[in-house]
Amino acid sequence: MPATTPLIWHSKEASEAISALRTDIEKGLSNGDAVERLAEHGPNELPEAQHKPMWKVFAAQFASPLIYILFVAAIISFSMGHASDAVVILVVVLVNSVIGAIQEGRAEHSMTALRKLSALKVRVTRDGHETIIEAKDLVPGDILLLAAGDQVGADARLLEAASLEATEAALTGESLPVQKHLQVLPEDSGLGDRRNMIYSSTHLTAGRGRAVVVATGVETEVGKIARMTATASEPRTPLEMRLQQFGRWLVIASIVLFVLILVFGLSRGIPFDQIFMVAISQMVSMVPEGLPVAMTIALAVGMQRMAKRGAIVRRLAAVETLGSTSIICSDKTGTLTKNEMTVTTLVLPDGRLIKVSGAGYSPEGKLSLEDKNISTSDDETLKAMLEGVVLCNDAKLVPPDKEDTRWRALGDPTEAALLTVAAKGSVDLDALRKQHPRKGEIPFDSATKMMATQHGSKIILKGAPEMLLELCDTSSLDLAKTQQTAVDLASQALRVLAVAKVTDLPLDEKAGFEPFRGKLKFLGLLGQIDPPRDEVKAAVEECRAAGIRPVMVTGDHKATGLAIATALGISKEGDIAVDGAELEQMTEQDLRSRLGSISVFARVHPAQKLRIVEAFQSQKQVVAMTGDGVNDAPALATADVGVAMGITGTEVAKGAAKIVITDDNFATIVKAVEEGRLVYQNLKKVVLFLFTTSIDEVLVLLLALLCGYPLPLAAVQILWINIVTEGTVTVNLIMEGLEGDEMRRKPTPMGEPLITPPMWRRMLLMVSTSVTAIFGFFMWRLNSGAPFELVQTETFTLVAISQWFNVLNCRSALKSSLNLDVLKNVWLVGGLVLGMALHMMVIYTEPMNRIFYTVPIPLTDFFLLFLIGSSVLWAEEIRKWFARRSQAA
Ligand code: ADP
Ligand code: MG
Repeated sequence: MPATTPLIWHSKEASEAISALRTDIEKGLSNGDAVERLAEHGPNELPEAQHKPMWKVFAAQFASPLIYILFVAAIISFSMGHASDAVVILVVVLVNSVIGAIQEGRAEHSMTALRKLSALKVRVTRDGHETIIEAKDLVPGDILLLAAGDQVGADARLLEAASLEATEAALTGESLPVQKHLQVLPEDSGLGDRRNMIYSSTHLTAGRGRAVVVATGVETEVGKIARMTATASEPRTPLEMRLQQFGRWLVIASIVLFVLILVFGLSRGIPFDQIFMVAISQMVSMVPEGLPVAMTIALAVGMQRMAKRGAIVRRLAAVETLGSTSIICSDKTGTLTKNEMTVTTLVLPDGRLIKVSGAGYSPEGKLSLEDKNISTSDDETLKAMLEGVVLCNDAKLVPPDKEDTRWRALGDPTEAALLTVAAKGSVDLDALRKQHPRKGEIPFDSATKMMATQHGSKIILKGAPEMLLELCDTSSLDLAKTQQTAVDLASQALRVLAVAKVTDLPLDEKAGFEPFRGKLKFLGLLGQIDPPRDEVKAAVEECRAAGIRPVMVTGDHKATGLAIATALGISKEGDIAVDGAELEQMTEQDLRSRLGSISVFARVHPAQKLRIVEAFQSQKQVVAMTGDGVNDAPALATADVGVAMGITGTEVAKGAAKIVITDDNFATIVKAVEEGRLVYQNLKKVVLFLFTTSIDEVLVLLLALLCGYPLPLAAVQILWINIVTEGTVTVNLIMEGLEGDEMRRKPTPMGEPLITPPMWRRMLLMVSTSVTAIFGFFMWRLNSGAPFELVQTETFTLVAISQWFNVLNCRSALKSSLNLDVLKNVWLVGGLVLGMALHMMVIYTEPMNRIFYTVPIPLTDFFLLFLIGSSVLWAEEIRKWFARRSQAA
């Protein structure tokens, strides 16, 4: 379609659209056509949300109070005749900005990479085949296949709409779903009234349909308003806000100290230009310039690690919230279990119980009644039941082929298992389906838990026994006994379905199942097993050790859920299961008071998931909730961590969730929690390190001033320590790996202060040790009459050395630093080596000596400095030893 002839698609018949777009409703475009059109129209993408050029990222680094302070300092030193100090300050500013820009670029880069992981996929017909392609490859003329839960990939004219509904809030602001149809509309219909069109980036909430793509990329309606939807920058996460607050607090403290040092210094008769520079440098050392960068990188690195382990983060805040998660509400089918169904038991209307042998979806296996083989040719009631479940079914069985040596299920595994058992009973699946084509349907919905299909005058229904048996004609059915049988099967961990039929009644999706009440003929029950996933049991245990409570939320029967929850360790002695109907009866207070002992919510209606989330949240729990369907979206959005399923999840669910689990596996959620905890833990290490080193320097300066000594460090040396010595190691603490005990601690309460009491105590120990060492050394050297420049250089080096040792301390609160584990963090080792090399340069090269007021230190002194500098390490080693001992006790 040349873009120069904009047709008003909603005012044209569907057939006109098809011919104008030179496509075919059944076959779609040929692959060749699609390639050609893609070249002509370009990919179906909106221009990247303005990628910031590198120079802008760099320039943005200068917009910080710290840099302003430094600029003022540079001007003042220059005007006072200290040109070299001014140059040093400017170089420091430059280096700081370069480091900042590089790291921001790195974080940005990994975010973009992750965004690509969650690229939208769509179903289309091409070359006569149904295929799944990436939405960016859509071209005008493509035939889209639509189902509830999809996100629409491009603007399209509807060709077929079966109860199709869409929410178009992204475009029209209208949050309620609108009904779609095919009728031609007046040309001047507004965007919200074009019921025969669907638009890119809106969602389908119900029904099924087909449509032909009319516009892609910037030509779509969202493309036209791209400015509006240009990804708004992510709101700050709670932790980022706390860090910001902490930073502000430090800035105030540093201003107070600035005044203090100035006043003290002047009263001691130190010349203004000298003390002013020191006061400024001190301010620089208090401002934690490394912290925001550390935060950004921590989140980005955390996201990357999670992605590697199968959890794709869609909202940054989820990284840290995951670490605080205290409840994981999980679906059963597919998440706790394998979702590989095998029918093991059949119950006929007369109560006869048939056992089924064989495993997987392979149709090899026997049906046996009291140890005698039985098949549909022997028994009419068995035949009626098995033929029923084949017709009322959307799945397919795929025989072994090159790709897989086993039989596979295409579609819903629950339904595929029914095909397998029918084949074992010698039903000819293809012939039967051909003979009785489908004329109408009410699709399965986890709210009604039933579905119906029409074949000629016959309607077949299947669904959860409680729902379906209610509708059956009980004149020839022992209802109570059948219900009891269903419960018995369920308590053997079987997923149970009932089948029924009715003839000569209309099937109308709007009217639902009510018209069938009392008219259905019961055909039988089927019980299927769905084995638990192997890794889930261990993951549940891990949760418990980590202070996280797993809770099952399932659409299955209470007895089935409870049996599996018990097998997996989710349900313990004294725990109870509650089903949807009981939940309905409970008052809010009831529910909250019993929440602690409910480990299974069964036969849950999706709307009830929201209530469950809110009940837990009212008890200050941080809740992760899984979901896949359209109806799960509100619960996913409300949960602290909404977890959408990557395989079975709809786009709507993914859009509402904060993370997407690529393998639908419960164990992956637990791994993500572990990574979330790691992010928080590493950030705390950075805070500890930055804060202690700042206090060290400030205290040494203040002590010297108070005791009437000359300044132990020159202003440029303080700057060096802060930008270079700290800068080369701080952020690298973020790259620390798992310590191994992350999942043996309680979850971090939301809003816990950044520096906890144990951290304050550690800080006190570190600061008192290093300040005593540094200041003690300084006094001793001065009193022993060493030349002042040498004393200052040695003190400067001692400060650096004690920071190097301290960064090792900060790697763990409990584990000794005296091992080679540190080598695993190549970033940290690299940073240390670089920092040391640069420091040597400042001491041992002539030009640097002049700029930094340093002199070369004799090598023997160096040894002494290392010994004294290491005191902070020994102090921590002793504390850690006691801490480990008291923990073991
Ligand atoms: P979950 O996914 O938590 O296991 P579902 O909502 O999928 O729960 O299923 C709930 C119940 O609905 C099942 O126990 C079963 O009885 C019935 N059911 C599930 N799938 C189908 C289906 N395709 N057709 C008819 N009934 C089904
Ligand atoms: Mg399901």
